[in-house]
Amino acid sequence: MRLGITAAFRRVTEITPDILKKLGIRGLILDLDNTLTTHDNPVPGDGVLDWLDVMKKNNIRLIIVSNNHPPRVKPFADMLGLEFVSEGKKPLTKGFKEAVEKMGLPKKYIAAVGDQIFTDVLGAGLFGVKMLYVDPIEHEKTTFFKVKRKCEKPFLPRKYYNEQEKK
Ligand SMILES: [Mg+2]
Repeated sequence: MRLGITAAFRRVTEITPDILKKLGIRGLILDLDNTLTTHDNPVPGDGVLDWLDVMKKNNIRLIIVSNNHPPRVKPFADMLGLEFVSEGKKPLTKGFKEAVEKMGLPKKYIAAVGDQIFTDVLGAGLFGVKMLYVDPIEHEKTTFFKVKRKCEKPFLPRKYYNEQEKK
């Protein structure tokens, strides 16, 4: 079972307007931690600022949905000039629902982007939007996360979008 991954990428910055066009995606619900930057890091990951600019210039609607708390999410989202939903409760659909209302786009044009199988991928599936999986920027060191990452293994993508295209 692949748990509904539309396409997988090594980094969020590999997602291009062209790819989104091909997949029929006009809006992205972005995870924060380990997708846009590492946990608790106030600085966006390498190339993320430029990537967001390209997305905005191509009229891709963007919003952050994070399970993290407002003190973590709000300053980060504000700095990037993005709308956000904090305490999104993924994989429950509450946060996604709120995000889609803010985006004003039909669900069929929206994809969730994130690095965790049991929150981002499962949540996108339950809510019924496309899912762009990205590898976590770095592997977490806490025992909780180590167990979580181990459980994810059977569900991780076997093929990555760009690597498929190279064939
Ligand atoms: Mg994450």
